Amino acid sequence: MTRTIQTTYRYRLNLTAEQEAQFRRFAGARRFVWNWALERKREHFKQTGKTLGFNALCVELTRLKQEPNTAWLREMDSQSLQQALRDLDSAYQHFFRRVRKGEKKKGFPTFKSRKTDTPRFRIPQRVTLDGAFVSIPKIGLVRVVLHRPLEGITKGATFKQEACGHWYISIVTEQQVVPRTDRPVRTHIGVDVGLKSLAVCSTGETIDNPRWYRTQTRKLRRAQKALSRKVKGSSNRNKARVAVARLHQKVKNQRSDFLHKLSTRLVRQFDLISIEDLRVRGLARTKRAKSVLDAGWGMFRSMLTYKADRNNSYLMTIGRFYPSTKLCGSCGAINDDLTLSDRGWTCACGVHHDRDLNAAHNIDLKGKRLFEQMVAAGYAETENACGDSASPIVTVGTGR
Ligand SMILES: [Zn+2]
Repeated sequence: MTRTIQTTYRYRLNLTAEQEAQFRRFAGARRFVWNWALERKREHFKQTGKTLGFNALCVELTRLKQEPNTAWLREMDSQSLQQALRDLDSAYQHFFRRVRKGEKKKGFPTFKSRKTDTPRFRIPQRVTLDGAFVSIPKIGLVRVVLHRPLEGITKGATFKQEACGHWYISIVTEQQVVPRTDRPVRTHIGVDVGLKSLAVCSTGETIDNPRWYRTQTRKLRRAQKALSRKVKGSSNRNKARVAVARLHQKVKNQRSDFLHKLSTRLVRQFDLISIEDLRVRGLARTKRAKSVLDAGWGMFRSMLTYKADRNNSYLMTIGRFYPSTKLCGSCGAINDDLTLSDRGWTCACGVHHDRDLNAAHNIDLKGKRLFEQMVAAGYAETENACGDSASPIVTVGTGR
């Protein structure tokens, strides 16, 4: 029984001036096709009351490329142009799904302007990575900063220019893995996102926010202030805007690097890792000091998930309704009076708890219980009503 895991790799590109011009033309062509197709769809609807579908638009696009005024489109990768039609199609579908659900009628596809649209394009096939180069149809070999090796089969690539001016490639790959259940569970850990530090582990280890975080946020604040003082439309304002964007990008890169290292260490060191599902709790924690994990929790979680898969370790996600902070780890009583500002508390049973460490302990315990349930169920896919989930998801009948 195999399972497919998808991984997204993102690399920075080193473009020559000529290549950069080509990239901009590809992005411009995508925008052109998007706007043209949107106009066609609107017209068609006005005249017939029916939608103009993806396939019909593909046919029209082929015809468009034969016309003298738009023959320049032939110099672009044809698949990336079709991708623009596909993107528009899914933007429509998203919108109508929202309308059907009775949600707000916003997000109807709009025309893209050169000024506000992020330059980007996607090539669904035939982009390959070879050593320090990525090969792109109609463009050729482009130098890439390969900071980590690519694994798996490439499923398409997206090129995007960040506000800081650099171009990046995102490659999605797919890999078949056979989930193994032969790693014995000897070491286990519960990780709680701390109030004061980044995370607190049930082992007693505290993971602090990295030092660069404070410096970078200070720099960012200063740069943003400088930006707000510049006159709108001036070239100085534009320079300040790029400076802010560069800093944002840097923080983003440093964060992802930091979380990569942390998640790798955890899956190597521990057989069983338990974390909390923070989707909702994160919102309630408005008083929380900003931390690296606040902005990167989803990323951290997905890193842990695929790395646990690759390393045959187990990841338990504890449902969001589990009262990990309020629960006394020794007697099981629940302290409903606990407030966000309480750093520690003493239970009626007499045990004093450090808030975050107690939570980490509880997460670890709960994760271990979940794991035992999973083993008892023959490693069957488990996701219970409380929203707890266990990984790797293995189908019953693996002989264990
Ligand atoms: Zn107690």
